[in-house]
Amino acid sequence: MTKVDVKSSHPVGRNYCCADLHIHSTYSDGLLTPSEIIKVCKELQLKAIAITDHDSVSGVEETIHAAQKSIDVIPAVEMSSNIGVLDIHILGYYIDIRNGELVSYLEDFQQHRIERAKKMIEKLADDGIKLDFNQIKENAKNAALGRPHIAEALIENGYVHSINEAFIRYLGYHSQYYEPKKNIHPKQVIQNIKDWGGVPVIAHPGTIHREGLTNQLIMEGAAGIEVWHPDHTQSLQQKLYEIALENRLVMTGGSDYHGFRGSYDQIGKCGCSEKEVIMLKEIAGI
Ligand code: AMP
Ligand code: ZN
Ligand code: FE
Ligand code: FE
Repeated sequence: MTKVDVKSSHPVGRNYCCADLHIHSTYSDGLLTPSEIIKVCKELQLKAIAITDHDSVSGVEETIHAAQKSIDVIPAVEMSSNIGVLDIHILGYYIDIRNGELVSYLEDFQQHRIERAKKMIEKLADDGIKLDFNQIKENAKNAALGRPHIAEALIENGYVHSINEAFIRYLGYHSQYYEPKKNIHPKQVIQNIKDWGGVPVIAHPGTIHREGLTNQLIMEGAAGIEVWHPDHTQSLQQKLYEIALENRLVMTGGSDYHGFRGSYDQIGKCGCSEKEVIMLKEIAGI
């Protein structure tokens, strides 16, 4: 994979954008379906978007179909990985969503997410917090099951008043009910994304609190950094921008839109320019 020269035309600190490359749909823990997302994106006159569901590419084709060529839809995924207790997300742009290995990897991962949710629900039940797994699974339909789905059940059953309270009291990393996802090192995920035709980009480095990790992931083959993200301050954006320039990596941005779950509530809130999209295409060899 060739590394290209980068210099974004999207200024640090500017939050509106024409390309939102980080959006979740109902195929993971987002609240909007692909068609509903496209409707909003059209209103915002976005030029390009990427549906980046957690460990799922099931929403990509539906989004491409709904866009009917009016918006450039990048096939993508946000893959889970970890180093010990650190949860690390890697975005994979232009990944080949039909690759058999990818499809079976994601099927396995979604099954793992089901088992993990069951474990968390069992631990909660042991403490008298009773939730119905089948109901949660039914509500989630064909989504990759995650903690936000359990959070919703906690609200429905009157244990908490909000998703945030559910995370603070029951589902956060430090909770006794928290169950980590299976062990997959980011280096492996980065390699997998490359093997399956995608461009691996470090998602929201600002949320991973370990000194030197961004540099480690670059050494391990990451081809880009998500610079513009709602959790990044302007000074962090500047720092990430400089790291990307120094290492000749592509810099991406997105809103991490989930709907009204959590604080990622506005499509187009963060993003990048079309130049980054062209660059991703170049790196992917498309
Ligand atoms: P999981 O992939 O099952 O570990 O769930 C992680 C997801 O939960 C993240 O992608 C966020 O969408 C969501 N999340 C994490 N913390 C919070 C929070 N405090 N409030 C709302 N949503 C959250
Ligand atoms: Zn999420
Ligand atoms: Fe993420
Ligand atoms: Fe995300």
